[in-house]
Amino acid sequence: MAGARGAEITILGSGPAAVATACGLRRLGHEVSLIGVPGNTAFEGVSERTLALLHQWGLAAAADSLGGAGERLGSWAGRDLAGNREYVVDRAHFDAALVTDAASSGVTIVSDRVIGYARGAGHWRVRTRHASIDCRVVIDARGRRVRRALRKGPDLIAVCQRFRTRHAAKVLTRIEALPQGWCWLATNGRGMSWLQAVCSRNERSLRFGLERHLGSILAAAPQTAAALAGATSEGVALARAATASLSVRQDVGGVFCTGDALVAFDPLSGQGIYEALRSAAVTVAAAHSYCSAGEWGPVARFVRERACDLWGRRSESAALFYEQQAGQMPSAFWVRSAAAYADCQLADRFAVAGEPRIERRPVLDGSLIELRRVVVTAQSPRGVWQVDGIDLAELVDFLRAAHTTDVERIALRFSCSPKAVAHAMQWLRAHGLLGAGCKYGAGSDGGVKSSGSSRE
Ligand SMILES: Cc1cc2nc3c(=O)[nH]c(=O)nc-3n(C[C@H](O)[C@H](O)[C@H](O)COP(=O)(O)OP(=O)(O)OC[C@H]3O[C@@H](n4cnc5c(N)ncnc54)[C@H](O)[C@@H]3O)c2cc1C
Repeated sequence: MAGARGAEITILGSGPAAVATACGLRRLGHEVSLIGVPGNTAFEGVSERTLALLHQWGLAAAADSLGGAGERLGSWAGRDLAGNREYVVDRAHFDAALVTDAASSGVTIVSDRVIGYARGAGHWRVRTRHASIDCRVVIDARGRRVRRALRKGPDLIAVCQRFRTRHAAKVLTRIEALPQGWCWLATNGRGMSWLQAVCSRNERSLRFGLERHLGSILAAAPQTAAALAGATSEGVALARAATASLSVRQDVGGVFCTGDALVAFDPLSGQGIYEALRSAAVTVAAAHSYCSAGEWGPVARFVRERACDLWGRRSESAALFYEQQAGQMPSAFWVRSAAAYADCQLADRFAVAGEPRIERRPVLDGSLIELRRVVVTAQSPRGVWQVDGIDLAELVDFLRAAHTTDVERIALRFSCSPKAVAHAMQWLRAHGLLGAGCKYGAGSDGGVKSSGSSRE
């Protein structure tokens, strides 16, 4: 099969990460092809902040497909969750709307299954079932693929079943913890209910088939079973891999992974659609920087370090979530899952030894990833470039040369407000780069607290 010249950038997959990345790259003027076959027929829940991100990306059809939010019920680790709201997402409709948004943005859509990709002479060749396409950059957004994971959470599986209910007139979701896992019930206000039960892949009742397994889940979940009283199941039960994973693979120039294909979260503690949309901003900047400057190293390093950092933070919070529930319900599932998250940390995430220092590292500056001088500390191992818009390394240079802590004078030099200078200096002081022990002395910042704000 001869390779057809495709767009400059080919994106594999057609979920939220793929489409947001494709639209972001189109806005920056790149030619983009998206090759995907939608396959998700589940229902999921998203919060208001995900809707806000969809609008930010200009994904109007996807945002419209969500309908109205409903109450989120249930309790977690002894705490009542009532008062929160959640949208019930019909992924088949949502994913189709995403593709409509991509097409409206000028992305070339190829409805085909990707078989793989390989290096050609100065390009990448993507092979699909029906064609092969040459391009300069490949972005793999094909979702959760735990085969080559660098780190994995506990091995989890979600078993799901659709139900038809007579009385479910409201949009509503409900979460319930049980000794062998947890379940989530969503009703869409139009008579459809969706049950999702997450447990260990080794759960004994899975051996007797998905239907019997769900029967044993409902027997242990009285509130969910009561909400489903009188409902009839529709279609067959389906199983979804639900293991969290970090699949960093940034060793080849011109290939990026994004969304779940890079970091997939535990559905209990992570909001996967939100994270997929957020990570698209980094992927857009990475691909744009690589296409503009042709430099791979800094871009790959930024993407890899951000993914590892995200994995570290999310697996820490997952460990906490599971520990809290284990405190209430100390069954093997909760105790072992909490321990598995505690064990899957990256040992070197905070391995920044010695004094705070200034190093050249890649930073995200708008739509570009570029090398800049940043302050590296044990708390910020990826480095902090700016606080309140002030370049910290430049500020340190200035303080060193000018021997002043006069906030007004520094503000004039940096063309910013004295308040911003005070924040930046307070940040430096708090991290040991300025203060009693340092030759610059203590600045008079009127007790203004550091905002701690920095750019990625
Ligand atoms: C059980 C479970 C419950 C979840 N619940 C929630 C929830 O309530 N809220 C939430 O925000 N997130 C939830 N998630 C996470 C959410 O589904 C993902 O994080 C999110 O969809 C990631 O987006 P993505 O674009 O990276 O990948 P995906 O949405 O998985 O998109 C990948 C796309 O690529 C396509 N594709 C795959 N292989 C190929 C191929 N070879 N060729 C062509 N196309 C291909 C797929 O069909 C799919 O359309 C849940 C996940 C699981 C497993």
